Amino acid sequence: MRTSPRSLILGLLLCLAFPVAGFGSAYNARPKLVVIIVIDQFRGDYLERYRDQWGEGGFRLLLEHGADFTDCNYDYANTRTAPGHATLLTGAYSNGHGIMANEWWDAQKKATVAAADDDQTKLVGIPGGGPGASPHNLLADTLGDELKLATQGKSRVFGVALKDRASVLPAGFAADGAYWIDRASGAWITSTYYRNELPKWAQDFNSNKREEKYLNQEWKDSNGNVLRTTKPVEGKAGNFYDLVGSTPLANDYEFEFARELITYEKLGNGPATDLLILSLSANDILGHKVGPDSPEMQAMALATDRQLAGFFEFLGHQIGLANIWIALSADHGLAPLPKIAAGLRLPAANITSDKIRAQVNSGLSARLAHPAEYVKEFDYPVAWLNPEAFAAVKVSEQDAERDVGEALKQAGLRAYYTRFQLERGDAPNTELGLKYLHSYSPLAGWYVLGVPPPFTIGFVGGTDHATPYNYDTHVPLAFYGLPFQTGTYRTRAEPVDLVPTLASLLGINAPTHSIGRVLTEMLVPARRGATTSNGGPDRNSPAVEGRNFWPASDGFISTKTRAARMRTTTLQVGGPR
Ligand SMILES: [Zn+2]
Repeated sequence: MRTSPRSLILGLLLCLAFPVAGFGSAYNARPKLVVIIVIDQFRGDYLERYRDQWGEGGFRLLLEHGADFTDCNYDYANTRTAPGHATLLTGAYSNGHGIMANEWWDAQKKATVAAADDDQTKLVGIPGGGPGASPHNLLADTLGDELKLATQGKSRVFGVALKDRASVLPAGFAADGAYWIDRASGAWITSTYYRNELPKWAQDFNSNKREEKYLNQEWKDSNGNVLRTTKPVEGKAGNFYDLVGSTPLANDYEFEFARELITYEKLGNGPATDLLILSLSANDILGHKVGPDSPEMQAMALATDRQLAGFFEFLGHQIGLANIWIALSADHGLAPLPKIAAGLRLPAANITSDKIRAQVNSGLSARLAHPAEYVKEFDYPVAWLNPEAFAAVKVSEQDAERDVGEALKQAGLRAYYTRFQLERGDAPNTELGLKYLHSYSPLAGWYVLGVPPPFTIGFVGGTDHATPYNYDTHVPLAFYGLPFQTGTYRTRAEPVDLVPTLASLLGINAPTHSIGRVLTEMLVPARRGATTSNGGPDRNSPAVEGRNFWPASDGFISTKTRAARMRTTTLQVGGPR
């Protein structure tokens, strides 16, 4: 059809009259794909600590061309992997999503159960797969679930991690797939909750024995020093998770799988916004062994930076960075190795939680004149009680939890909160009290949350997280994409702010129990002069340190223009080819 001169002129006039028509809001340009990268154990200070060592296109893509929140802290005490991943994608704390630990004592089953375990399902992808995993313990839905609801299932949602809990919980109920590995063989698996057999591409991935190239490797630092090897010990059956897990090779393996998933599932090519949650597990496995201040952890962080750069480059070529939003965070931080902290004269110690559990049990056995295993599980600083043992001596939950709490104090913990007490909202009106109210879950039986002294670790020979202290709660929170105004933001933020912000921009509901706020300070103003008097992003705000990636005069940048610039960024990320 030919365009008449009259309609051309009319069109031109319309364009002049409404220069932002169609771009009234920068956010109307829905991305093709949202990628949320969760680094399993990455403390909020690392991005700053190694800032001058980051290469191009990895963390710098977010730090220099995205929005970086430097002061993001979890506002709860149980800073563990399962709660952290659930928090990030539900926008709620444990009192909303129900996941308060990785594992807990199940009095009915008389067994320890893990957060994503589901006996009603079977593992898929390994012969004779045992009990599988599902999000059935979640009491709240996720960003992916809301995307699914808003698009009547057209959005596609996937989770990938080495650990089931880090893949299944953030992906949510309606996810198309969640993948993790069989720890022994390294094979990628899923559960019958999602499907009865692996998709062809994942079967091929496993049958090509891709995991083998990560074995018998040396991990070297930039000076060529061998930090670790993935060579199985002679005469011992190699366990992929143990051998490869604590090296950057494990993250390479995850990225390789994620690339295949994006390619074969055609993520970013559908009729609606797709979502991928990728949790990098290797950082956590190593961190527990060597602590946050070791040269190995630095080498791991630098390797993660290069791996991210490679992945972002792949996304740029595959889908175009202008079509993608990226968010980066972590499920928790990490305490320094006690010997490092003690060396600086901070009060710090490795203690043995088995000893504390034995001490509590023998104390209670004497006091109640009835020997029993009153505390079944003690994952420092949290104790799970054995209701049966207390019932035998006619002690109520309230009294049982108080008795255990007092025994924990005797054993050196500073204070305690009981399940009974938290269920009633009975906590002091303090910052710490609120953190423990946020840690409550009606799941997980009878329990007592001990308040540990800072810098105490519940086992010997490494370090841990799971406290309300800043070294555990401080995590990165950074965004890259068209709606996000480049800058360093020192305003207070929480991981629960991630999904309500994305939901708002996507024009969908936030997850059911989301309590976070929309991080409005980082959003590109929707219209000229709509937000600040000078018509541009407020670069004078003391909380924002603009990186000047967009010219300062560019008060309003249309989606089209920004998209064009993003493509330029894509090229820069790619670098010389
Ligand atoms: Zn973790």
